[in-house]
Amino acid sequence: MRIHTILSSRVDGPGLRVVLFMQGCSLGCRFCQNRHLWNAQGGKEMNVEDVAEAILSHPDYCGNVTITGGEPFEQYESLAFLTCILKQKGSHIIVYSGYTFEELVSNRKIAVFPHIDVLVDGRFIYELDNPYLSYRGNQRVIDIPQTLKTGQISLLDWDSPQVIVDPEGNLLIPQGLGDMFAEIGESHSSPRCGQTVRHKMIHRSDRWQENQKLFADVMENQAMLLGETV
Ligand code: SF4
Repeated sequence: MRIHTILSSRVDGPGLRVVLFMQGCSLGCRFCQNRHLWNAQGGKEMNVEDVAEAILSHPDYCGNVTITGGEPFEQYESLAFLTCILKQKGSHIIVYSGYTFEELVSNRKIAVFPHIDVLVDGRFIYELDNPYLSYRGNQRVIDIPQTLKTGQISLLDWDSPQVIVDPEGNLLIPQGLGDMFAEIGESHSSPRCGQTVRHKMIHRSDRWQENQKLFADVMENQAMLLGETV
């Protein structure tokens, strides 16, 4: 299979994840942030077992894997084999695809589904890009086991208001909320997906109450932006 890189991340799905970037995508979404992954001859060739081993032995591997690209389903057989190996090892697997679930089903690319937990599906559509969503721009987040069980597409909620703080003290929030936290820390947009901002928090006890109020206000605001109630 052709891959670009394997690294760890907290912005490609919930939690600390080992992320495989596969090489090659023919879908050509406008303003794609991974154009360097379009060329199917780019990256490097590795056999599937070696890719699985590299993921499972990554120092940050704690059971979570994200497979993205590039377009993973354009290397369908390799993807099916890889997810099969990883699932046998107990991994929680998220796959990002520019194809929709329905397209994959109608093209009979279904052998991957029994091995994965979540499919984030569909083209990136710039006009629909929503900076208040977590870990994606406009795509759906499909609970694959539940969808297979019921025969109806079942969506996961990645957007309920929550505060995520990583072990280094960074606050992880959707990009659209970054300005609201400007006064309590620096922010950095992820170059990968553009959907998550990291804020260095200020750990000063005299500001904690103030910051808690700010969190509550912002999360309420986020809920309103998403059309939900807190
Ligand atoms: S499917 Fe993903 S990698 Fe391919 S063009 Fe669209 S955004 Fe880029």
